[in-house]
Amino acid sequence: TMRESYSSENDSGFKCLNPQLRPIVIVGGHGQLGKLFCRLFELSGYQVKTLGSQDWDRADEILHDAGMVVVSVPIHLTESVIAKLGNLPEDCLLADLTSVKSGPLQAMLEVHKGPVVGLHPMFGPDIPSLAKQVVVYCDGRNPESYQWLLEQFQIWGATLNRISAIEHDQGMTLIQALRHFTSFVYGVHLAEEDPKLEQLMSLSSPIYRLELAMVGRLFAQDAQLYGDIIMSAPQNIAMIKRFHQRFGEAIEMLDAQDKDAFKQAFGQVSGWFGDYAEHFLAESQGLLRQANDSTHR
Ligand code: NAD
Repeated sequence: TMRESYSSENDSGFKCLNPQLRPIVIVGGHGQLGKLFCRLFELSGYQVKTLGSQDWDRADEILHDAGMVVVSVPIHLTESVIAKLGNLPEDCLLADLTSVKSGPLQAMLEVHKGPVVGLHPMFGPDIPSLAKQVVVYCDGRNPESYQWLLEQFQIWGATLNRISAIEHDQGMTLIQALRHFTSFVYGVHLAEEDPKLEQLMSLSSPIYRLELAMVGRLFAQDAQLYGDIIMSAPQNIAMIKRFHQRFGEAIEMLDAQDKDAFKQAFGQVSGWFGDYAEHFLAESQGLLRQANDSTHR
């Protein structure tokens, strides 16, 4: 029954580190990530309200007693939504979950005089729990007033990683923009070449199946989100263009059948990876063993 499942959820809930907090408002709380955080806060005993896209005519009413506001709307709308939050209680904590950090953090600091923190959960909505997941955070204003929140994430099982917004966005140029873009292009290429996927899979070694999975999973997700992430900063596009240029240079090597140049470049990269090359070999062997175990279960 409803009552039983409700009470068992409460039993499996989490310790509440800030029971005095006034209601939490999640802007975009009906979305994928917003829903996940709604649930986590509720399981920890916080009162949670949602401000959805249709609710702005009631915004003052929803926001007037907020103890914390969390912005979780599509990236391309984030800064304009933040700009509408100029009327929060002075002591309200303003936070966001956006995958890019500089623009939103700046916008939050400009619109709100009280405490501010930028958050980037390094996971999607499909995770079973926060155990071993990373939450990146960027200090905004009055860090002493949101230590409870960072500790609450740790109670949920997450690991915290503090970084400046600028360094975060530089890292994400490689970790998100370039990687998602190369997956996207590989997917475009596969679709154009149109091989029989089933046959590809039956011919594949586990490492190629993993690669197919890494590419294929992108296309089970939200085109808007990934388009926004890839195109969120000029530095992303500049990085992707440098990659494209190096791709072209490497192809010249092939056209010239220049195996010496290939070996020389290979050696340089191997030297750059240094001890990490062996480390990654061992790590990928471990991952493949796990993947292999789970597909034969
Ligand atoms: P989503 O599209 O599932 O959810 C966004 C929600 O915002 C929707 O419910 C939408 O109706 C609502 N919305 C749109 N305009 C609004 C407005 N003007 N006012 C209030 N609500 C509005 O997107 P998502 O995947 O949950 O992403 C939300 C944020 O989380 C983004 O900033 C994204 O970068 C970040 N994020 C997402 C993931 C992920 O894997 N999904 C991972 C890390 C971070």
